[in-house]
Order: sequence, then structure tokens, then C-alpha cells
Amino acid sequence: MKKVFLLFVLLIVFTTCKNVEEKAEENQPKQEKAEFSIIIHGGAGTILKKNMTPEKEAAYKAKLEEAIRVGFEILKQGGSSLDAVEKTINVMEDSPLFNAGKGAVFTNAETNELDASIMDGETLNAGASAGTTTVRNPINLARAIMDNSPHVMLSGKGADTFAEEQGLQIVDPNYFYTERRFKSLQRAKKAEKTELDHDDKTAFYDADIKDSKFGTVGCAALDKYGNLAAGTSTGGMTNKRWGRVGDAPIIGAGTYANNNTCAVSSTGWGEYFIRAMVAHDISALMEYKGLTLKEAAHEVIQKKVPELGGDGGIVAVDKYGNMVAEFNTAGMYRASMNDKGELVVKIYKE
Ligand code: ASP
Repeated sequence: MKKVFLLFVLLIVFTTCKNVEEKAEENQPKQEKAEFSIIIHGGAGTILKKNMTPEKEAAYKAKLEEAIRVGFEILKQGGSSLDAVEKTINVMEDSPLFNAGKGAVFTNAETNELDASIMDGETLNAGASAGTTTVRNPINLARAIMDNSPHVMLSGKGADTFAEEQGLQIVDPNYFYTERRFKSLQRAKKAEKTELDHDDKTAFYDADIKDSKFGTVGCAALDKYGNLAAGTSTGGMTNKRWGRVGDAPIIGAGTYANNNTCAVSSTGWGEYFIRAMVAHDISALMEYKGLTLKEAAHEVIQKKVPELGGDGGIVAVDKYGNMVAEFNTAGMYRASMNDKGELVVKIYKE
């Protein structure tokens, strides 16, 4: 009798598992797996057409295209998704248009403290740096931490020292100065002083929103070998203080990659993205609930994050090469390219 009961239980467990598997299968896109694909963002926020000049719009679009073409060529020639992510981000880090590398926003102390991270979906290896002040391209530091150190995350002076030891390009902290970002800090400070109803927690963010000075950069890619990778680089948020670290260098919040699911890079109000574990949550919804990338990204960006009170967006690629750009702000600088070389560059909601 006992044996029959045991067999019955086993049968029920088996059937349930199979149903979950079938549901997961059924939710997967029907199309063929792409050979490779790549998607980038240059930050999400209150990016409104009425506040843009045609010249500014053209400049952003041109830089996004320049950046993504670098990664596309690497992938086309059989390079790794990690290399594509790193080199694509380098282009945006070197442009003053974006809040990463040259063009990073200022802290309350009028310094620039940069955060970055990168993750390899094949091995689940990851590297991240927080609060560096002398590393020209923080994404290269994140990569070096992943490849050449026993650690995942380094911060502050130690991270700067490691970068130097690794032979990465070191710059004077003044390299990061841009008038536009400096003015943005002055405006944020003024707003903080005058808007008495602000509390300390939100002042630095609201002022930045009004100025629409976002521009964290990120990239997710799938290579010809089925390996996913993602990376994110940022100056953080204008007027940040006390060594504040955002989501960008937090693996699972700002960046996540797993060959079984997807690769994700986030941008937005970091505090909320950390609390919602945005990038990993999207992967987990796919892994454990069988959601498609589109469904998972929608769930986290349109429901979980705004319900907490945060905003922002993500770009992501799944293991089939499907690409998603999801955001709950007015706009997000973004571009994608598939294996046929078809390019999409967008700024606003469509
Ligand atoms: N997520 C970044 C941070 O909180 C900022 C951004 O993406 O706009 O540091």
C-alpha cells in the first residue's frame, strides 16, 4: 500500500515538473536563435523632445551608433560578448554626452566618483568597481577585477591603485570635469537649498531629473558561441555624497548575465534598482517562472520598480538573441543591432 502511495506521489511530482517545463518552453519565442546581437543604453530619464534641439538629438544618435557598431564588428568577426560589451562602453565613456567616464556627474564635494561592473554569462564571473576617481575607463577596471583579481568588487583608493597596477589608463581627476555637469551640480545644490519640502534623500535626485541629466551607459550582448555578457558604467547621481554607491556596480542590480537566461544592464534611480535587484530579478523570472525576456522585463520595470517608487529602465538580450529595451521614464537613449546588421537607434517612448 505504502509503495503504491509513493508511486502515486512520484507521478504527481513528475507531471507537475513536466507542466512547468512545457510552460517555460511554450513561452519561449518561436523564432530561430540569432547568431549574435547587441543592445546598448545611454541612460533613462525625463528626456523630452520639447527639450531637445535637432543638433543635440543628432549628436546622441551618432554616438550611440558609433558605439554599437564597435561591438557589432567584434561580434561579427567572432569576438566574445565580453569584448563587445567592454569596447562598446569605452566609446560612450569617452564621450562627454554620457554620465560615464568623461561626462560623469559631480558629487556634492565637486568630485567625480565612478562606478562600473561587468558580468560573464558563461561562467557567472563578475567584476565591479565603485567610487574611483582616476581611472579613465571604469569598465576596463571592472573587467580587470574580474579577470585578474580574486575579488568581485573593489572600491575607492584601493580600486584606483589596482587599476594602476594593471596598467590601465590613469588620468588626473580633472579629466572628468565638464562645464555642463558642473553647472548641473550647482543647480542641484541650489534646488536643495530652496526647496524646503525636499528631504536629503530625494533632493539630489529630483534636481537631476528636472535637468534631465542622465546618461549612465550599458551594454548587453550575445556572441556566436552562445555566451551572454553585460556591463554598466556611470558617474552615479548628481550631488551624491558620503561615498554613495548606486546600482551600476552591484551585480544583480545594475548588471547581470547568465547563459541560461539573459544579460541585463540597468539605468535609473539606483537606490530602487538595488532594492528591487532589477537585473537578477529579470533573469530569475525567466529561470524559475519560465517568463520570456519581454514579460520578465515588463514585470520588473513597469510594476516592481514603480510600485516601490523608483524609475528607470534596462536593456537586455536573451539566450536566443532577442533584445528588449524597457523603461518607465519619458525616454531612454538606446540602440540595438542584430546579426543582419539592422540598426535601431531611439530616444523617446514609441
Ligand atoms: N543608476 C545610476 C545610479 O543610481 C544612475 C542612472 O542610471 O541614471 O547611480
